[in-house]
Amino acid sequence: MEKPSTRGSGCYEKISPYYRLGKTLGIGSFGKVKLAQHVLTGHKVAVKILNRQVLNDAEREKVMREIKILRLFAHPHIIRLYEVIETRSNIYVVMEYMNCGELFYHITEKGRLEEAEARCFFQQIICGVEFCHLNMVVHRDLKPENLLLDSKRNVKIADFGLSNVMRDGHFLKTSCGSPNYAAPEVISGQLYAGPEVDIWSCGVILYALLCGRLPFDADNFPLLYQKIKSGKCTLPSHLSVGASDLITRILVVDPIKRMTIPEIRQHPWFQHHLPGYLAVPAIDVLQRVKQGSIYSSSNCIGPTTSVPVHSMQQNEYMNPKEISPMLQFPSVERKWALGLQSLAPPHVIMTEVLKALQRLNVCWKKIGNYTMKCKWLPSFPSYPGNAPNTTLCMNGFSTDGPSIVETDRVGSGSDNAVKFEMQLYKTKEEKKYLLDLQRVNGSPFLFLEICAAFLAQLRVT
Ligand code: ADP
Ligand code: MG
Repeated sequence: MEKPSTRGSGCYEKISPYYRLGKTLGIGSFGKVKLAQHVLTGHKVAVKILNRQVLNDAEREKVMREIKILRLFAHPHIIRLYEVIETRSNIYVVMEYMNCGELFYHITEKGRLEEAEARCFFQQIICGVEFCHLNMVVHRDLKPENLLLDSKRNVKIADFGLSNVMRDGHFLKTSCGSPNYAAPEVISGQLYAGPEVDIWSCGVILYALLCGRLPFDADNFPLLYQKIKSGKCTLPSHLSVGASDLITRILVVDPIKRMTIPEIRQHPWFQHHLPGYLAVPAIDVLQRVKQGSIYSSSNCIGPTTSVPVHSMQQNEYMNPKEISPMLQFPSVERKWALGLQSLAPPHVIMTEVLKALQRLNVCWKKIGNYTMKCKWLPSFPSYPGNAPNTTLCMNGFSTDGPSIVETDRVGSGSDNAVKFEMQLYKTKEEKKYLLDLQRVNGSPFLFLEICAAFLAQLRVT
């Protein structure tokens, strides 16, 4: 299949009465990005041009849905998406203009960077990536071409979310991204494509910033893949102990053992001169929606809709460590865990899980394709505080994501509530999945009770 082209797609087309299109800023895998100027204010923006002809209806809908979500993203290190204009031939994504080019032009100009400068970029990148992960968006294509600089030499992440939509399905074939930044599990075609893949790419980027070259490089793909899968790279002697340690802990082949963002945050090298505004994770979109600080319009997610910002494909999973602490229950005193192994395909397991939960009157909320928060209120009268009319609400597990109806209705008088999380993992053994249940709070005995009942209900092999 040919790479989609924007030729004849109306680069000179007037995209709206308000923007005048200018020079080409870059050429991505799906079309051009052009500079544009607002005719009234003179404000400069970057416009990504997506040719409608290369999108089928389902894909177009997916792109538009993703765009609606990305429009809510406001973070100092993520490129703002202002608006989307659709014409007969194109979809124009209007976004913040970054006038100082790609981060890697900066590196190629300067060679390797001083640790202080590299750290500053790295802190900004990690905080931007963290924000997206908190909102359940995994970038999957973090690389220097997608890291842009503004006039103050701040770095911002481009291509969030959209790249995911595009990378699914037939777009995958048109993607010509460099595999140098791809995690071992990605190039091995494994199921993993959760936040860990972004963390690996951040490790490669950190290496490149500090060393002025790539940690894994080769003249041909087989050799490159072999190097990435081995995870072995040389650490030059000019690197400080802290920087070497951080790189070594990030570029870990096993995604489970790879550092997580909270762990990176704790690392002394990362913490050094961490600016105050980045010291704590930025509030996530869901939280802002709940707090009503996000305006609601027909065009964006209103407060009655949750944040199904899952850019993950059906067969992906998220590491619970990476899920927003705000999306988890606050008290994380995890003492009990129960695992169940199955050979059934993940969607079959999830369907059975949901059926079992339904039979048990457990309410759930999907926080990832294979992760959910659950709340169970024992209904027998021997437990005081269990109000008679606290019928548990059931949140749908539709592909459009959960509703935000949530568990508020059982919030008060629910002292006996058992809250737990459920996560489906892919095990190292081929085609084997592990369903993990973790008590978040509530009585350990009641948790065991619901686990036992759940196991009895579950009909997977
Ligand atoms: P693709 O999804 O096809 O990779 P990108 O969004 O990464 O497209 O854009 C391609 C290139 O266009 C970038 O590498 C960058 O050089 C330029 N570009 C993209 N967005 C902007 C922007 N907001 N400001 C300035 N240049 C940009
Ligand atoms: Mg790109």
